[in-house]
Amino acid sequence: MLLKISHFISEHLAFIGVSVLIFLGFWGVRGRKEKSIKGKIKHQEAARKSMDEPNTLHPEIDPTKCAGCGACVSVCPEGEILQLINHKAVLVSPTKCVGHGVCEVVCPFEAITLVFGTKTKGMELPRLTENYESDVNGLYIAGELGGMGLISNAVKQAKMASEHAIQNLNKNEKTDYDIFIVGAGPAGLSASLACTDKKQKYLCIDQDKFGGTIYSFPRQKIVMQRPVDFPLAGLVKFSKHKISKEELLSVWGQIRTKFKLNIKEGVKFTGLKRKGKAFLVETSGGNYTAKKVILCLGVRGTPRKLDVPGEDLPKVTYNLLEPEQYQRRYIAVVGAGNSALEAAQYLARSQYRNKVILIVRGDNMSKANDDNIQLVLDLQRKGLLKIWYNSSIKEIQKEAIQVKKGNELLQIPNHYVFIFVGALMPFKFLEGIGIKIEKKFGEARIS
Ligand SMILES: Cc1cc2nc3c(=O)[nH]c(=O)nc-3n(C[C@H](O)[C@H](O)[C@H](O)COP(=O)(O)OP(=O)(O)OC[C@H]3O[C@@H](n4cnc5c(N)ncnc54)[C@H](O)[C@@H]3O)c2cc1C
Repeated sequence: MLLKISHFISEHLAFIGVSVLIFLGFWGVRGRKEKSIKGKIKHQEAARKSMDEPNTLHPEIDPTKCAGCGACVSVCPEGEILQLINHKAVLVSPTKCVGHGVCEVVCPFEAITLVFGTKTKGMELPRLTENYESDVNGLYIAGELGGMGLISNAVKQAKMASEHAIQNLNKNEKTDYDIFIVGAGPAGLSASLACTDKKQKYLCIDQDKFGGTIYSFPRQKIVMQRPVDFPLAGLVKFSKHKISKEELLSVWGQIRTKFKLNIKEGVKFTGLKRKGKAFLVETSGGNYTAKKVILCLGVRGTPRKLDVPGEDLPKVTYNLLEPEQYQRRYIAVVGAGNSALEAAQYLARSQYRNKVILIVRGDNMSKANDDNIQLVLDLQRKGLLKIWYNSSIKEIQKEAIQVKKGNELLQIPNHYVFIFVGALMPFKFLEGIGIKIEKKFGEARIS
């Protein structure tokens, strides 16, 4: 019997091979067609829900150059937010794009340009050169404050800014420091390493703690981390793509110790003046002169407030460090982005027995990624969390909050309010020290 089968196969090998290829080809075409239809629906749905304007740096795809290879689609770390529709790549979920920029790197046809804002929705940014120098000679901006999120971008930009600053130092000026770095997140860490590498006299300060935004994440929060090439420390790579905030901060801490970085925590930058060709840097710990200044302030220094009565009560906070501190409490989480949804997930864990309400101003959670949306919807289904859409807090009291939910005004018990409604960009402050802010309408950063 076996002999017969093998004989049949050998006689009809060519025919079987061609049939298999036709079948696979047909299957592939069918799969692509289905994905294209799904992508189209997703895209239309985004437009219907007014979720078609990206909030950050995002890819602009030139359909005349796109050959539909799909390299950008498969490489996007945010999932299926880019899709092939009729053999052309389309950003189908624009509000989910966080500007990783890998799509641009992998496109073999140079069909993708990363841009800020759209023709109808401008995005304000400090005006910078390709070396991240501002309109004020010798004053640089690196990291998320310059408009691009993500750790890898912050590290790369700060490295470039520091190298440029170091190359253009006027060694004859007498100053306390050659380079003064403000902010000790990934950008500040990278700038400090670049200065240590080139043996410059520098100081890095942070009003809070070393680690920047990552430090203020909840305990054990997962961070997506691509390999990052730091100055001096070299390539920092983890065995997995997703790691905990603690793992990441531990590695950064080891780098800080190993290279004896000159970083001071708990010192706030308050102002900047020209002193001859150098700068006078004003801080809560005293004033310093420096030849060059690199601002790595990030964008979360000043959280946006609700501006409602009672917001100054101690039970109101703008980050969540240790979720386990909150148990058997009535909690309101305000916001609809990833930070709010993640905080709500931690606080609604069944073992904590909290009563958590997620208060969402609009009728959707458009800014958050699909995973986070699914997770909070699951918690809602399990009865561990309530989501109140079209709702906003009107007043915060010691033991309660007043919430406008649709047309109703409700008074509900409350022990803690967590607010995650974004941050105020320090543009007024930057303009005050001479940095020009410009609005980009679908343009690259350096146009
Ligand atoms: C919920 C959430 C999840 C994220 N997840 C990821 C992820 O998985 N992967 C990823 O790559 N990125 C992620 N990001 C983005 C990432 O955290 C930022 O892009 C990155 O931290 C920016 O680095 P930075 O150095 O520019 O600024 P930051 O990390 O924000 O650091 C800025 C520092 O400046 C300090 N500072 C501000 N003002 C002053 C002042 N006046 N004086 C002194 N110090 C000051 C602050 O205290 C802060 O420590 C996430 C962000 C959020 C909010």
